[in-house]
Amino acid sequence: MSAHGQSGLPPTHNPKYIFVTGGVTSSLGKGIIASSLAKLLQSRGLSVTIQKFDPYINIDPGTLNPYEHGECYVTDDGAETDLDLGHYERFLNVTTSQANNVTTGRIYNNVITNERRGNYLGKTVQVIPHITDEIKRNILQLGETGKYDIVITELGGCVGDIESLPFVEAVRQLKWDLGSDNLLTIHLTLVPYLSSAGELKTKPTQHSVKMLQQSGVQPDIIVCRTEHPLPADIRRKIALFCNVEQNSVIEAMDAETIYDVPLLMQKERLDQRVLYMLDVYNDQDADMEEWKGFLDRFKNPTENIKIGLVGKYVELKDAYKSIIESFIHAGAANKCKVSIEWIHSESLQIDNSAEKLQGLDGVLVAPGFGERGIEGKIAAVKYVRENNIPFFGICLGMQMACIEFARNVIGLTEAHSTEMHPETQFPVIDLMEEQKTVTDKGGTMRLGAYACKTKDKTLARKIYGKANISERHRHRWEFNNKYLKDYEAAGMVISGVNLESGLVEIIELPSHPYFIGVQFHPELKSTVMAPHPLFVNFVKAAIDFSKTKELTKS
Ligand code: GLN
Repeated sequence: MSAHGQSGLPPTHNPKYIFVTGGVTSSLGKGIIASSLAKLLQSRGLSVTIQKFDPYINIDPGTLNPYEHGECYVTDDGAETDLDLGHYERFLNVTTSQANNVTTGRIYNNVITNERRGNYLGKTVQVIPHITDEIKRNILQLGETGKYDIVITELGGCVGDIESLPFVEAVRQLKWDLGSDNLLTIHLTLVPYLSSAGELKTKPTQHSVKMLQQSGVQPDIIVCRTEHPLPADIRRKIALFCNVEQNSVIEAMDAETIYDVPLLMQKERLDQRVLYMLDVYNDQDADMEEWKGFLDRFKNPTENIKIGLVGKYVELKDAYKSIIESFIHAGAANKCKVSIEWIHSESLQIDNSAEKLQGLDGVLVAPGFGERGIEGKIAAVKYVRENNIPFFGICLGMQMACIEFARNVIGLTEAHSTEMHPETQFPVIDLMEEQKTVTDKGGTMRLGAYACKTKDKTLARKIYGKANISERHRHRWEFNNKYLKDYEAAGMVISGVNLESGLVEIIELPSHPYFIGVQFHPELKSTVMAPHPLFVNFVKAAIDFSKTKELTKS
């Protein structure tokens, strides 16, 4: 992070605020636009953070089904957040926190708690000013830490949604409170192409901007998602009807990868435009050389592997967002194209695992909750363990590896996790002691960063290259230390432990070329600039495995 004063902003200043709103339809990629802009500003020496305000009533997405909302991203401080925070961290290589993701539920919860405490002095509590004041307080919170030159706020949902109204009103008020030099609104819309007419259509953009204007907010910049380049006359038309300057109409063409978007935005001079409008003098060009190096490695692979991802939410790829992105980072680090073969855990059994898994160069058994697909995951572990295929188990995937080992190597044929079988005779995976009295579901798992010590002379130590590591968690169950000696006697090595609690964090099998399971979620810490070593090494092991396969074939 740059110290203030090296960034083109005066040494003591208030941060500048940028809001990113969306219109016409959801899924236009506000998170990617926000992250790309943040990346460009960061590459100019500015210190930037991004936060997301979500209009839904859940306090956080922690209790949402992955089918509903994709992956739940966990921060170091244990917040269960929207998956866009993963993009922020992956693009910027900085950590986010609870303060970076606020929902309507949290806002109302705070206001209602204040009301019960009598903090409103007998006043009627209303959306305006109480809810909007609480939104504004939360928006300004990160800026007030003094750590940032620029705070980008993404507003979830679309303008015009009932739930979004208080947020848009808060933005309107803030522009008034802070002044237009300090606050800028970027509106992301869709400019569809009608193939029958052979034309790009601006009407949806006009309507969505009008909706924003009706709420009192005039966007300063309009970013247009489009499948075709925006010609000058279309830009002029959007500028004229939406009341912005023509160079504030930015084209956002569909990209081959999300990681191209910062460079596309740089070409469109979005960063320059933003700084000009916010009255920030910064003559440093965004230095994107390292980023381009990553893209070059990603787009010109010299190796090619196929990884099987065994999970129960495979119909919705967003449920495994961070894992997919981690493979992109690790693939680029190895100059290797990683193709993911999605394997539904419910479709796997002992007798079809050879058929489903034999062509793969590595298998990742994914995190998850509940009984569905469990036996498929265990069958996958058995197959890769017996056939020396590189294995990587994450959280539930690690737990399933422990169950498989107990059943088929130690000989505890009825071994299970008490999550799925509370009455099991051999609870090799059991509820953590402190979880036994917990009844609430929201925010009560073992969440966030915990320290772990890797054991000398193990694969884990080799991969991390150090003894003390910290990784993020999201689980209730754990390896049951009562069985530790049985595991060790049968050849499993416990290669990572939390020294404070004694909880097992990493397991491995030295008799296998590459078999590692982790109780934590390494995928939450992989970034473009710092690919996670567990993914980098798993990809490497899969490349080696694919080469030995080739050799034995010839
Ligand atoms: N359901 C398991 C637990 O709560 C694993 C959780 C996960 O994979 N994130 O311990």
